[in-house]
Amino acid sequence: MAFESLTDKLQEAFKSLKSKGKISEDDVNRALRQVRTALLEADVNFKVAKDFIARIKEKALGEEVFGSLNPVQTVVKIVNDELTELLGGTQSRIMIASKPPTIIMLVGLQGAGKTTTAGKLAVYLRKQGKHPMLVAADVYRPAAIKQLQVVGAQIDVPVFAKEEAGANPVDIAKEAIEASTHMLKDVVIIDTAGRLAIDEELMNELVNIKGAVHPHEILLVVDSMIGQDAVTTAETFNEKLGLDGVILTKLDGDARGGAALSIKAVTGTPIKFTGTSEKMDGLEVFYPDRMASRILD
Ligand code: GDP
Repeated sequence: MAFESLTDKLQEAFKSLKSKGKISEDDVNRALRQVRTALLEADVNFKVAKDFIARIKEKALGEEVFGSLNPVQTVVKIVNDELTELLGGTQSRIMIASKPPTIIMLVGLQGAGKTTTAGKLAVYLRKQGKHPMLVAADVYRPAAIKQLQVVGAQIDVPVFAKEEAGANPVDIAKEAIEASTHMLKDVVIIDTAGRLAIDEELMNELVNIKGAVHPHEILLVVDSMIGQDAVTTAETFNEKLGLDGVILTKLDGDARGGAALSIKAVTGTPIKFTGTSEKMDGLEVFYPDRMASRILD
């Protein structure tokens, strides 16, 4: 699982404090240096790590850690609170339209897990009592349409697709939304085309779909295994499209966790879900406080 190495190193940093009865400012500084190294090794953005440590130091001084009865617990609590804040503070829900359908647009690079996540999101929303449908708006790769159809069949969710050559993704999205009404579907999840790298053509197409259908949620699906590149990807998509949230996939792998810890701070966009397996039930709502406790445990 992600974060294992970070968790080990943070524990080590606190262990050196725990062996002392009273702690001095020097002791805390030493431990925080270890925390900072651990964050950087976990591939946390440099500035994010630096600011994080500065805030903890300030709080530790403010809360008079050094004279307190349980100085180590106080430091650990401060780190826990700051980690929660870094991860987004409170849970960010997805927006459900007051008048259906709720339109969710999934964007991201090829291989990030978009198609898989579209299916997972449909399963998640169905569990919430919604009636989702999927839309294949990737017109460039026939295999992508087929893949979404396979996912749809597997979870028994209808897939709106147009297989003829020359179909336009903007029209597909618009037609799918019209169709949702008579299909009695109240959530439309649009799986857009991805590219191996960000290019202008891809971005323009996504901007056009956004302009045509005004999604309630534009969610970036990003692979946690690509580390800092996940953060840059989020920055770029956010600049062009204005993201409502991020879904961080493959957290079941051995990602070092830096993306999870940097995305909110760098882009201002919250992580809303994480992908934790290849299976259709492998989507988890992202709770910053629970993740912080998991990292520190
Ligand atoms: P797309 O190109 O963005 O649509 O990506 P896909 O949905 O085709 O996913 C690419 C690969 O990543 C597939 O093999 C998926 O099974 C896998 N995948 C997606 N999400 C996760 C996840 O959360 N965990 C794991 N382990 N694999 C995932």
